[in-house]
Amino acid sequence: MLLDTQTTVTIKGGIDQLFDSKSKYTYEEYIHKATQHIKSFLDRDQFYSGDSQSDFESKSDLVAIDENANLSIDEALQEIKTLFLDHTIAFHHPNYVAHLNCPVLLPALVGDLIASSVNTAVETWDQSTSATFIEQEMIRWICDAMKLPKTADGVFTSGGTQSNFMALLLARDDYAFKHFGLNLKENGWSGEVSKFRFFCSEKAHFSIQKNAALLGMGYHSVIPVATDDTMKMKPDALVQAIEKEKQLGNLPIGIVATAGTTDFGSFDPIQTISKIAKEYGIWFHVDGAYGGSYVLTETHQHLLKGIEQADSVTIDFHKTMFQPVCSSAFLVKDTKNFKYVSYYADYLNPLEHRNEDYPNLIEKSIQTTRRFDALKLWFTLKMTGAKTIGSFLEKVHYLALDLYHSLKDDPCFELVHKPELSTLVFRYVAGQENIDAVNLYIKNTLFKSGQASVASTKFNGNTYLKFTLLNPKSTIDDLLSIIEMIKETAKTYKNYN
Ligand SMILES: *Cc1c(COP(=O)(O)O)cnc(C)c1O
Repeated sequence: MLLDTQTTVTIKGGIDQLFDSKSKYTYEEYIHKATQHIKSFLDRDQFYSGDSQSDFESKSDLVAIDENANLSIDEALQEIKTLFLDHTIAFHHPNYVAHLNCPVLLPALVGDLIASSVNTAVETWDQSTSATFIEQEMIRWICDAMKLPKTADGVFTSGGTQSNFMALLLARDDYAFKHFGLNLKENGWSGEVSKFRFFCSEKAHFSIQKNAALLGMGYHSVIPVATDDTMKMKPDALVQAIEKEKQLGNLPIGIVATAGTTDFGSFDPIQTISKIAKEYGIWFHVDGAYGGSYVLTETHQHLLKGIEQADSVTIDFHKTMFQPVCSSAFLVKDTKNFKYVSYYADYLNPLEHRNEDYPNLIEKSIQTTRRFDALKLWFTLKMTGAKTIGSFLEKVHYLALDLYHSLKDDPCFELVHKPELSTLVFRYVAGQENIDAVNLYIKNTLFKSGQASVASTKFNGNTYLKFTLLNPKSTIDDLLSIIEMIKETAKTYKNYN
C-alpha cells in the first residue's frame, strides 16, 4: 500500500557527503587526500604506463558499480589510483607531443575547483549573478584583444567544434533570412538551403563538414579549397571555387578561414579572404581554435590581421591558453546575430522580463545548463597574466622551429613544412620500403611502451608523424631524445615483422 502522508524513505549514510556547511571539514579532507594522489600522478616517470600495465580487462571489477557501494574516501582513491591515475596520459610530460592537449596552469585549477564546488550554472542571471559579468568580461577581453568592434559579443562553449557549429548556424540562418525572408529557427527546413555552400581550405578542421551535416546541409555543402605549399588557402582558388558553385546554380553563403590549421599550424591569409567575403557579401568566419590565442604574441599578431573584419571567430582557451577542458568561446562581430539561437522559456527567461542590466547568457548559447568555465580564465589572467601566456606561446613556436632546423638536414627524415605555429609534421624515411607502415609502427610502439606519444596524420595520402608542442617547459633536448627513440624504434621494425 502506498502511504502519501508518511515518509517511508530510509537513508543509509551518504547524506553527510552532500556539500554544505556541515560537511566542510569532510570536504577539506577529501580534497586534501585527492591532492596527495594527484601529486604522485605528477611524479610519475612515464607519460603513460604503457599498454601491458594498464591492462584494463583484468581491472574490469574495479570499474563495475555495485548498487550498495559505500567505499571510504581512501578506498575510492586507491581504486582510482590503480585504475586511472597510475596509467593515464600525462599531458604535462615532455614526452607527450601528440595532440592539442596543453599542460594546465595552477590558477586555472583553482578557478575550476571553485566553479565545480559552488556549482554555478551560468545560463540565467538568477542562477549565476556576478558569474554572468565575469564571463561577459572575459568575452569583452578577448574581443578587444582581437580588435573586434564595440558591437561584438560572444559566449563560452564546450569547444571549437561547438563554436564552429554556431558559426555555420548563424551564417545559414542569416543568409536565409536576408535573401529569402526565411525564418529557419521558427519554420525549419526550406528547399533553398540545399543549395547553400561554404568554402574552407582543404586543411580546415573536420568539424566544419560535420557541423554542416548536423545543420542539415550535408558534407557536400562544404567546398574544400586548395592550399599552397605552405598549407594556406589560395585566394585565387577560393574565388574560382565560388564562381564555379554559382555557375552550378548553388548559393555561396560563407567562408571559413583557419587561423592555425590543426596539423600544420598554417594561417590562411585572413585579410585577403575577408575582402573576398565582403565582395560576395557573405559570412566570414575565422576558426582560431588553435591559433587564435596567438593574438597575445608579438610574433604572430600580423598573421591574425583582418580577424577584426570577421563576422564570427572560434577560439579554444583549452588548447592554447593552458586551461583545463572545457574552456572555449564563440565570438560574433554583431551581438544582434545571436537572435538565431535565442529562445525565451517561460520558466527560465521569459521575454517580458528581459532586462539589459541583468542579462541571461542562455540567449546566446545553444546549451542550457552550462558550467562557469570563464572563472578559470579569469584566475589565469589575474595571476599569470596575458603577457606571460603570450610568451609561453612564443616559446613553443620557437621550439617547433628549432626542431625543424635540427631535422631538416637529417637524411632519416622528410619534412613537409616549416612550422608557422607549434606543430611539426614529418616522417621517417630511412630504409625506403613500407614508409607508411614504418611510421605507424613507430607511433604505436612508442605509445604502447609508454615511451612517448607522437601523433600521426596523412599528407598527400601518406602517413606522417606529428609533434604538437604546447609545453613551454620542454626543451629542444627533450624533443631530440624523442627523435632518438623514433630512430631506435624504426630499427626494430624488421625484427617485428
Ligand atoms: C581542435 C580544433 C577544433 C575543434 O575544437 P574542440 O575544442 O576539440 O571541439 C576546431 N578547429 C580547429 C582548427 C582545431 O584545431
